Amino acid sequence: MFNCASRAITASTEISSNYNRLIIHTNVVLILSAVFIILQFAGCSPVEDEPSPLLLEDGVVIYNTHADIDAQNQFLDVTAELTFLADENTPSYAAFVLNGGLEVQNVTGPHVVSHQTGEFDFVPVWNVIEIELDETVAPGDTVSVTLEYSGYLDFDEDQFQYDGMFTSGWVDFNIDAMWHPIFAGFEQHMRGTMHLNLPEGWQAVGSGTTTFEDGTHIIRNEINLFDAPFAASPSFEIRQTDELEVYYRRADPEKVTAVFETGENCIMYLNHLFGAYDPITTTRLVIADRSGGGYARKNYIVISSGDIDPGAPVRLHRFICHELAHYWTPSPGGMSPDHWMSEAFAEFVAGRYLRDQFGEEVYNRELSKWENEGQGHGPVWTPELDVRPGTELMYRRAPFLLHRLEEKIGAERFDRFLTQYMTEDILYTTYLLDELEAIAGTEAAEWFRNELARDDW
Ligand SMILES: [Zn+2]
Repeated sequence: MFNCASRAITASTEISSNYNRLIIHTNVVLILSAVFIILQFAGCSPVEDEPSPLLLEDGVVIYNTHADIDAQNQFLDVTAELTFLADENTPSYAAFVLNGGLEVQNVTGPHVVSHQTGEFDFVPVWNVIEIELDETVAPGDTVSVTLEYSGYLDFDEDQFQYDGMFTSGWVDFNIDAMWHPIFAGFEQHMRGTMHLNLPEGWQAVGSGTTTFEDGTHIIRNEINLFDAPFAASPSFEIRQTDELEVYYRRADPEKVTAVFETGENCIMYLNHLFGAYDPITTTRLVIADRSGGGYARKNYIVISSGDIDPGAPVRLHRFICHELAHYWTPSPGGMSPDHWMSEAFAEFVAGRYLRDQFGEEVYNRELSKWENEGQGHGPVWTPELDVRPGTELMYRRAPFLLHRLEEKIGAERFDRFLTQYMTEDILYTTYLLDELEAIAGTEAAEWFRNELARDDW
């Protein structure tokens, strides 16, 4: 793995060798965001528009983005002002990925010397915009660059989940669309304000609050996410409680009810277990007016209408609970070898919910799937691994090992361990093992460490 986003392109050889082990080119986006597929599913509080430099943390980009969205012609015209701290190692260099169908007209800013556009190595339909900053920029300085770009999004034909993401009657964009610049290392997170000019009468929803001011939809996202997702359509109906807002358009009422009740149940369950200090407060869940895949961010979830089956409540609960559980499962980066914890704990907690809600038989079926489908894919984690493990390891083998650990150390100690992970921002496996040792002793921690590292099964 590269250590900083801005080195992503210059260090591309190093990256390639790492990435090649787990990614085929066209699947980067799936791995980065389409958890839906992996899981077998195919008011207002204004904030300042101008981000204060004092609020900037390392590894965070604050955006102030204006976008004209011509849904009729599927054309975008965007100005994105990005503010971030200069890299520690290469302060005069920054690189952003952007959809290849979008042409960059201008890159400006107080320190911008030049920019160039090249192909992104891992996804053929994406470009990388490399920006050279002047030499007065020191590591950690606050830097602002503004990218102006426009065009038609280019989608890879293999990525079926794009079907219907951008039509004359529906928009839902996330990292897969790559409509908004993202640091090329994919390790940064971002928040900020989007000003969206949409067709007349449309509505918009994102992870933050939405207002309509002087003809523009303004979404203020205050939670750091790894992309800038939103959805928009000619109209939304909303069903809501304090914690959950379900947005939908033309969806079957039975589906809306199923999604709403599932979300409510899971939020109540998870807040009870893990939300003593940091409960889920508002999650926005969009039922997309299309088929294809869904995706989830910390407090923003999109499920396509075509994938909701009220007659399959287990699947729906598994998906929604897994995504909601991510509220408490931070990751050091989507490509990190420690990312397995985020997915494994979310999946395990969703399995726990199924056990409590639907009974042992349903849970045992999950367990068998974890055991069988997780076999033969090598170790989940070793101190030497420098890439994230594959899907079967994170979503199958690792939750199975958590189950085994529960059997080994007993429910009481395991529950403390689980709660510790879910509430203490444990980003690295070594820290997790330390916690386990403190709770269940050296032998248990050693056993778990060895199980994670096993590849002979
Ligand atoms: Zn997940």
